[in-house]
Amino acid sequence: MGHSDRESLRGKVLAVARVVVIGAGIVGLAVAARLAARGDEAVVIEKEGDLARHQTGRNSGVIHSGLYYAPGSLKAEFAAAGARTMVAFAREHEVEVVVCGKLVVATSPAQLPALRALAARADANGVPARLISAAEAREYEPHVRCVGALRVESTGSVDYAGVCRALSQIVTDRGGEVRYDEQYVGARTRGDGVEVRTARDVLRADALVACAGLHADRAAVAAGVDPGARIVPFRGEYFELTPEASTLVNGLIYPVPDPRFPFLGVHLTRMIHGGVHAGPNAVLALAREGYRWREVNARDVGSALSWPGLWRMGAHNVLPGAREVLRSLSRRRFAASLAELVPGITAADLVPAPAGVRAQALSRDGSLVDDFLLRTAPRQVHVINAPSPAATAALQIAERVVRELDAVTR
Ligand SMILES: Cc1cc2nc3c(=O)[nH]c(=O)nc-3n(C[C@H](O)[C@H](O)[C@H](O)COP(=O)(O)OP(=O)(O)OC[C@H]3O[C@@H](n4cnc5c(N)ncnc54)[C@H](O)[C@@H]3O)c2cc1C
Repeated sequence: MGHSDRESLRGKVLAVARVVVIGAGIVGLAVAARLAARGDEAVVIEKEGDLARHQTGRNSGVIHSGLYYAPGSLKAEFAAAGARTMVAFAREHEVEVVVCGKLVVATSPAQLPALRALAARADANGVPARLISAAEAREYEPHVRCVGALRVESTGSVDYAGVCRALSQIVTDRGGEVRYDEQYVGARTRGDGVEVRTARDVLRADALVACAGLHADRAAVAAGVDPGARIVPFRGEYFELTPEASTLVNGLIYPVPDPRFPFLGVHLTRMIHGGVHAGPNAVLALAREGYRWREVNARDVGSALSWPGLWRMGAHNVLPGAREVLRSLSRRRFAASLAELVPGITAADLVPAPAGVRAQALSRDGSLVDDFLLRTAPRQVHVINAPSPAATAALQIAERVVRELDAVTR
């Protein structure tokens, strides 16, 4: 659809661009920028007043190296490649970035086999990582307590909101647009195009890409596409270390993850703008955009509870789930988890910081959808599951989405 058509109104229908993209998080903007870079005008629809208001602007800011993910998965492939492309993109566009490396620390001999398994997985994923002694770990982090560690050099820290601003600039420089405060309501493929309804307009385009994060499943259903899973929101709460306590941490310190859970465990992260973040934990949120316990959305709670997968998952995770809730309610417990990594940290060193909510797709059978998940329909691509490390991998996800889009718009 040509530029000259942009402002033409045909009845109620406003002709916009070749592709409408839902969501100005990092995934939607990366898709729009990739389309723009090859000459395809893209219009991004975002319900908030600015970009990166949800997951993208509320995460740990880490560029993951790709060490955790199942070999052969999209996560493994895209994170390893994304760690390189994200750093290069940030440097090219003058977004703050640092490749500081990280330590994954085993705090007891019982964790050493899992640490070795992680080292083997890093190897399988082509991520350079070294098992090191406790003494060598303390050369990187003098205050850490461990019996051994895995050193990964390619992990970094970046300003993801800054990356989003640079992506958005690419979109607008090539004639596209990011429309804020505009809620997508639904879409239908009609003949050689897609009609996209928002709370303001009906937009006509050649194709639709939905990257709606916490609302990804609903965005698909509203376009007549079965998402095959339901989004369940898991809040991740953070504290910031006081300036005095932040001197206990040089870079990034992670625990050995529990392979049964998709989240990495509370960790210590020196942020790109200074300060050290501690967290995130993982508790079921009572609203998809529920950043505090008191934020409850009846529709969201109903949607989670009516999904059989939630009950199946809950039945298998009663104890770990209860532990996470207790840690969420008690700063002392939160500090105790951190003190396993760095014994000097106490509850008095923690200042509450803004939380994030992860969009995690859950299958009907109760299994968490581990990998990135796309769904396609004629002239439509829906990003259904894009949890961590999707910020790291956004440029790679965008490349895949555009390839899928070409396949469904031919
Ligand atoms: C606590 C936490 C820590 C994390 N840490 C890391 C990390 O360190 N490194 C890493 O790589 N990843 C991390 N992640 C994951 C990463 O942040 C996400 O995978 C990534 O940001 C997903 O981007 P997105 O664009 O898909 O979603 P989002 O950033 O959530 O964007 C989706 C956008 O769609 C918009 N939208 C939704 N519905 C509509 C609608 N109907 N109409 C219009 N707009 C709509 C929303 O307003 C939102 O702006 C973390 C996530 C969380 C929550």
